[in-house]
Amino acid sequence: MSNNDPSNINQLLEMAKVESINYLMDVDSFPVFPTNNALKLLQLFDEEIPTKQNDPIDTLKKLAAIGSKTTVNQSGSRYFGFVNGGILPIGIASRWLADTWDQNAALEVMSPISAKLEQVCEQWIIELLNLPNTTKMGLVGGTSVATLCGLAAARNHQYKKMNWDVNENGLIGAPKLRIIMGDQTHGTVSKMVKLLGFGAKSIEIVPSDDQGRMIVDRLPVIDESCILILQAGNVCSGSFDDFNAICRIANMLGAWTHIDGAFGLWAQASEQLKHLTLGMELADSWSVDGHKTLNTPYDCGVILCKHPTAITEALHQQGSYIELGKSRDNMIYTPDMSRRARGIDLWACLHHLGKEGLASLLNRLHEGARYLAKHLQEMGYVIENDIHFNQVIVYAGNETSTRQVLKKLQSSGVIWCGSATWKGKFIIRLSVCSWQTNEHDLAKAIEEFRKALR
Ligand SMILES: *Cc1c(COP(=O)(O)O)cnc(C)c1O
Repeated sequence: MSNNDPSNINQLLEMAKVESINYLMDVDSFPVFPTNNALKLLQLFDEEIPTKQNDPIDTLKKLAAIGSKTTVNQSGSRYFGFVNGGILPIGIASRWLADTWDQNAALEVMSPISAKLEQVCEQWIIELLNLPNTTKMGLVGGTSVATLCGLAAARNHQYKKMNWDVNENGLIGAPKLRIIMGDQTHGTVSKMVKLLGFGAKSIEIVPSDDQGRMIVDRLPVIDESCILILQAGNVCSGSFDDFNAICRIANMLGAWTHIDGAFGLWAQASEQLKHLTLGMELADSWSVDGHKTLNTPYDCGVILCKHPTAITEALHQQGSYIELGKSRDNMIYTPDMSRRARGIDLWACLHHLGKEGLASLLNRLHEGARYLAKHLQEMGYVIENDIHFNQVIVYAGNETSTRQVLKKLQSSGVIWCGSATWKGKFIIRLSVCSWQTNEHDLAKAIEEFRKALR
């Protein structure tokens, strides 16, 4: 067995191709969530690490045989769980190619093509999201880490104004910064706030209205020691904070605003939906995912920051061997150095969609959520939110019935969706976020909800 034998590579990649195509062709006939029986196959992975080398063909065969029966069918069209999103075919194809190229996106000198394509993505995203043209973009694994980057930039910037060099002095003995966020802030945000050394005691919580938006009148007194964290797209209701009002106050008083817009920030790219993000360009930093609404491959988180110095001072790494390029070095905007060139597949998805394709994708997701809400309501379900974007909160009248309905839906194999607690109630949460979901899929979803009521 020789790993470099070209026929071996041909055979291996051919097999991956055939397996992938078969998977995508069949995927809508599999249960959306693997059955308990299928999941038993996962036990076949419980084995000692092989002593001898295996033929890669055998390795791939084993993976394909078990994997294609045990995956959660997110690349199909009837997965409404979490806010996960599907994957565009161009995303799969470009990612294959990028993986084959094995580019390290850290520095321009390591991969000029990744540097170029990230620079292009930066420009395109600035235009799509109507951001200030000083904005810098970094690519990370997801919105969680993107938020970490935005808050690290915020910390650096706010301390600098107080004449405290946080890189030099750290946090011990530092003046206090105040973190202000809504009571509906995503869990990843508080995690990152704590990771940055602020501690829960630095956090001031603003109550939210019935849709989960921060109540502007309930903001505490803002000053220049504040970092405000706002949200574009609540994971349950899909609602957006009032950026226009809050950012204006923050900007006047010298506070930093970061918007967590994991899936919602893209709303700005649709004429029909951009009223939701009004004033978002007034913020200082934004985090958003490619892998949710945009349907890029995992893992693609985007940090955008209006102040180049703040983000690079927070995240820049030094080393005698580091040779910075002339145009763009991706690693100066993110915590990591070596990483996959996710800018390649991000570029490919944006290039394929274009402005119109993206807008029509966004509009379809919104229409899909409205369709579900309307029909579920007619059937007697309570829809607990206004349909701002692509999220629907469903309640079956009481907790017991809601749990029963959820259980039936999750074991139906036809659709899958999750649950949450919303304003004290146990609810079912639907997210329309796959490019593939069409009227047919939505009708099937409605039918499952009807069956589950019986
Ligand atoms: C998904 C999500 C996150 C976390 O993003 P990851 O890409 O999973 O790291 C943060 N905030 C909101 C509002 C989200 O929807």
